[in-house]
Amino acid sequence: MDRNYLLLTPGPLSTTSTVKEAMMRDWCTWDDDYKGIVQDIRGRLLSLAQADVDAYTAVLVQGSGTFGVEAAIGTAVPKEGKLLVLENGAYGQRMEQIAGVLGIQHCTLNGTPDRVLDGERVKAVLEGDADITHVAFVHCETTTGILNPLEEIVRVVKDQGRKVIVDAMSSFGGIPIAVGELGIDYLISSANKCIQGVPGFSFVVAKRSVLSECKGNARSLALDLYDQWETMERDSGKWRFTSPTHVVRAFHQALIELEQEGGAQRRCTRYADNQRTLVRLMEEAGFEAYLPVETQSPIITTFKYPLHIPFAFVGFYYFLKERGFVIYPGKLSDAEVFRIGTIGDVHKGDIERLCEAVSSYVTSAQQGGIAI
Ligand SMILES: *Cc1c(COP(=O)(O)O)cnc(C)c1O
Repeated sequence: MDRNYLLLTPGPLSTTSTVKEAMMRDWCTWDDDYKGIVQDIRGRLLSLAQADVDAYTAVLVQGSGTFGVEAAIGTAVPKEGKLLVLENGAYGQRMEQIAGVLGIQHCTLNGTPDRVLDGERVKAVLEGDADITHVAFVHCETTTGILNPLEEIVRVVKDQGRKVIVDAMSSFGGIPIAVGELGIDYLISSANKCIQGVPGFSFVVAKRSVLSECKGNARSLALDLYDQWETMERDSGKWRFTSPTHVVRAFHQALIELEQEGGAQRRCTRYADNQRTLVRLMEEAGFEAYLPVETQSPIITTFKYPLHIPFAFVGFYYFLKERGFVIYPGKLSDAEVFRIGTIGDVHKGDIERLCEAVSSYVTSAQQGGIAI
């Protein structure tokens, strides 16, 4: 299938033609065929999360990823509860904002975008504040591409006897996560990230024993995760309100393709190969990555604006777009950066072609051929 351009962004991302073709039929939302697909998706998500069906459940929620985060936070934390948000980027800040808008008692442990979250600091905050019932944090902070130490943070929170909510939006499916073994209470992701579906819904993998205690907690009707779960269970895959049928069908196909690729571990290997190739070739072209390799995820990479050539992001963006690649602007207030994603139906050869285009931009700029 012809592409207008390759998306090198952290979602929506480039999908296979077979995922797109899966949307070419119309489905009835309450018919058994369709509900069967929903149930199959819920089962496959639990396998992907390495979570046991008796202990965990998967709930699908209409809307983009943020809707899933808002549904999870707004339903998980009871009226008398208190949320601690760990923040080292824009998506952590968004969770803090959600808690504020919903009127949830909360506090924030602020970090910096170039440093991973620190388990010792989290432990100290939890030891000093017995009111905190829940802790929320982002696994891969897409703002920079930094990979927070998931296992360390989850262990600290669990050792302190609190519930943990993980925004694994940009990592789930692209990095293996042992949700069951770690005892994660809520893990949130969406259709259009590493599972490589199209945008339209998010999902929450939740511990049954924990979610079952959340009836009546929600501060919203549409984003009531408990109610959504209850309906999906009782009516075998029925969504409470109109579900994004075509998106669901495409997602089912995307899950099958993830399994065909060899699962999250194999996909992670491909993404990591893309990412290493990207950094190597970008460095050859004179660009420098914002993060050191130790904290860098395979998902998305932040690059500093180059100093060796006259450079403006907009010109660079359109130069690459004309050649079939769409990249991402930066999201940091204190550093001039841009981002390139390495997830989706994107392969090493694509990254090599992208970097050839980047090199020709650099050559033109050096020769004065690019007006800034
Ligand atoms: C993409 C993303 C989200 C959700 O963003 P939406 O625009 O609502 O889909 C949340 N957290 C992280 C870390 C993300 O990468």
